[in-house]
Amino acid sequence: MGEVLKNYINGHWEMGVTTGTSENPSDLAAPVADYARADARQAEAALEAASEAFASWAGATPQRRADVLDFVGNELLSRRDELGSLLAREEGKTLPEAVAEVARAGHIFKFFAGEALRTPGEKLASVRPDIEVDITREPVGVVAVIAPWNFPFAIPAWKIAPALAYGNTVVFKPAELVPACGWALAEILSRAGLPAGVFNLVNGSGRQVGRVLVENRLADAITFTGSETTGKQVLQQAAARGAKVQLEMGGKNPLVVLADADLDRAVDCALQGAFYSTGQRCTASSRLIVDAKVHDTFLTRLRKRTRALQVGHAEERGTDIGPVASRAQLDTNLSYIEVARTEGAEHICGGEVLERPTRGHFMSPALFLATPEQRIAREEIFGPIAVVLRADDYEHALALANDTPYGLCAGICTTSLKRAMHFRRNAQAGMVMTNLPTAGVDYHVPFGGRKASSFGPREQGRQAAEFFTTMKTAYTCA
Ligand code: NAD
Repeated sequence: MGEVLKNYINGHWEMGVTTGTSENPSDLAAPVADYARADARQAEAALEAASEAFASWAGATPQRRADVLDFVGNELLSRRDELGSLLAREEGKTLPEAVAEVARAGHIFKFFAGEALRTPGEKLASVRPDIEVDITREPVGVVAVIAPWNFPFAIPAWKIAPALAYGNTVVFKPAELVPACGWALAEILSRAGLPAGVFNLVNGSGRQVGRVLVENRLADAITFTGSETTGKQVLQQAAARGAKVQLEMGGKNPLVVLADADLDRAVDCALQGAFYSTGQRCTASSRLIVDAKVHDTFLTRLRKRTRALQVGHAEERGTDIGPVASRAQLDTNLSYIEVARTEGAEHICGGEVLERPTRGHFMSPALFLATPEQRIAREEIFGPIAVVLRADDYEHALALANDTPYGLCAGICTTSLKRAMHFRRNAQAGMVMTNLPTAGVDYHVPFGGRKASSFGPREQGRQAAEFFTTMKTAYTCA
């Protein structure tokens, strides 16, 4: 991108103490950008700026907040192709997926532009005479936004947009793999008409910059999406000083295929859910639980379709699956394939490192027949690797679906309304899909899970107000 991408602190673009380079996982010879890595001192300065700016932004009219968010939304939507190309280059998802993600981020900003005018509240009658009771919502303060690399526009959007809509100020730390996407979002926000300090960007490491955002008392709330391991650390540190915390973490999402399912449709759901975005989605359908009566037919069709998927450069036409986002993630994927072999899971197809015209982190999507206790069937891998588990009947399938520490999303493919409704009621997950892949959600409805997948109020939709505001009960006697 030519210049070194700087941090945005208190309305100024600032260099860091060191510089990093973000790579293109489709073409390691063509790095995406050099960027300034903030240090702990700059993270503190960003928090101080956000704290200073809080009173003025909290007092801004809802219309002013809506105008800012509308501007950002419009810009993301009108530049979706250009920014989608940046996203495909830096993270490795295919161009159509990347363009759709940028558009989704734009819609999220526009949705919360509307919500800025609708901050929730309630009026209740008092039990005493001549008193009125109002339940109002106020901004929380400074919100630290800590994001993962796999949705570098959409996830920051669904945290930053509600934070600003309800009158909070923000310090945003993108993941280390996607600093240029974080910078591009910040660059738009820097032109949106916000007072200095209301929005700040600090690119840098989790250990240094992320830690400050979690431990510093100036961060009133922390919204985090990432791995379970980091999430647990964040929770411990933030809880120790009483900060508000919201965590979205891992998943090992089941997709149940019943004997009465439309099998072609079920194969589509499995393929899209397990392998699109290179399987690097918290909602990936990584456990395919198939009724024994259709197991062999389903597996034969799924294997054929999986082998036909085109793995290649993220920006090339015809690519179904882009590269793995990093060398470290590729190593993790390969180590799980080794674990699967050692534990005796039956290899169906894929899992090989692939050569392509450009040097990148390419691997073929992998399928294994597994048993429920094997690690490959229990642990989140976050790559294009799915397991198929055989179920004796629906009850067994439901039990297998719920047999996981995670509870983000669960899916079922069936033509029986009765079974679908039973599954909907009994799946232990925050989101349930019927005849759909577990991955692929709307931008205006709540997103989040149960068990080890999530902590705190839901993200997205009107329900986001619960985290990004704090409640006040006001009694008034005239
Ligand atoms: P990660 O936990 O490694 O990093 C997430 C963020 O936390 C990054 O910005 C990182 O720099 C920061 N960080 C790391 N250590 C920190 C510390 N000690 N203090 C503060 N911040 C710190 O996760 P990742 O590899 O970027 O993302 C992949 C994970 O994210 C997967 O587990 C995936 O399931 C999860 N994810 C969950 C959702 C969801 O909504 N449930 C969505 C997308 C991704």
